[in-house]
Amino acid sequence: MQRIMNSERPYLYDLTLPVLEQLFKGWGQPAFRARQLYRQLYLNLSDSPATMTDLPLALRERLAAETSTTTLELVRLQTADQGLTRKALFRIPGGEVVETVLMVYPDRATVCVSTQAGCAMGCVFCATGRLGLLRNLSAGEIVEQVLWAARELQQLDPGTTPIQRITNVVFMGMGEPFANYDRWWQAVERLHDPHGFNLGARNMTVSTVGQVTGIRRLAREALPINLAISLHAPDDALRSEMMPINQRYPIAELLAATQEYIAATNRRVSFEYVLLQGKNDTPEQAAALGTLLHGMLCHVNLIPWNPVPGTPLGRSERARVLRFQQVLQAHGIACTVRVERGIAIAAACGQLAGLPGDLASSASVHIPLGE
Ligand code: SAH
Ligand code: SF4
Repeated sequence: MQRIMNSERPYLYDLTLPVLEQLFKGWGQPAFRARQLYRQLYLNLSDSPATMTDLPLALRERLAAETSTTTLELVRLQTADQGLTRKALFRIPGGEVVETVLMVYPDRATVCVSTQAGCAMGCVFCATGRLGLLRNLSAGEIVEQVLWAARELQQLDPGTTPIQRITNVVFMGMGEPFANYDRWWQAVERLHDPHGFNLGARNMTVSTVGQVTGIRRLAREALPINLAISLHAPDDALRSEMMPINQRYPIAELLAATQEYIAATNRRVSFEYVLLQGKNDTPEQAAALGTLLHGMLCHVNLIPWNPVPGTPLGRSERARVLRFQQVLQAHGIACTVRVERGIAIAAACGQLAGLPGDLASSASVHIPLGE
């Protein structure tokens, strides 16, 4: 169920501008005040009404008393790569935890955000999958992670980075975005809004486990955000073993939906392929993947597997990764190996699982796959 209210107070990041205007109308405030507030939230990155000095004092006081802005409670901040990778662990209303990672590069700043606490999809190589689904995040909770990263970036020493603004948002943190489609998409629209945060659609990337209904839906959306699909295996037997979703949407169906998506949007898709030693990383499997993707407007992102304690899986050796890449390239498939960040603080892909204690104690709620 959609959570608009938070502790009985309207949670401002969950409200669209028209809804904010409605709220203000009820308070006897003119519509332009709502636009001012909106700019404060998404342009000035204000997180407390007290700092919104262009609003009348009485209004600031009412906002402080009757609404909430920040609801993500920072539990832990870890840094790596000379402070240029920053992972936050947040407690969200209800007590669950989610993680957000800011990665600053010489020419860009990317934030990787969570769309759910936990995940129902159960991929065997992923730390988040082992939690089961705890709950969906609201649009505001997704947006707020990006705003946190934007503030964090502003606080970095300008000598450390010339980048002042978040340039990219990737929905690759905890959770399956398409299993929380409506709220996730509201967050995309909010971040894109030229009157607010104003992030270009092409600067956002969603990664899906391969939920075909979501891919079809995304193909019809007006905003051209980028699509990445987690493939990870070249045949159904292996993919089903690694990713239960494959039993519902096998590879042929997934690729058919991807082809439809490409035909409808004329956009290149990325396939993610996490490399597990001796499991999916042989030259024969690379050749099979090359044949599977031949002629598709796509790119393959090879991801060195990041260790998840308690799994019997192993990370492919560097030489095997490079061999895999060579074979794919020989098949005419554009292919890169993902640059790794934040492994020391478990901020890398698929390592996001919250506090160790949560992993042990959380009840694993499994919902039917796909919806
Ligand atoms: N649920 C979505 C998005 C979040 S996971 C999805 O599965 O695509 C983001 C990416 O990290 C996916 O490609 C996922 O397969 C990959 N991943 C999961 N666990 C990983 C691990 N331990 N090491 C490296 N990548 C991992
Ligand atoms: Fe969920 Fe993605 Fe992890 Fe699979 S890889 S369990 S879909 S977060």
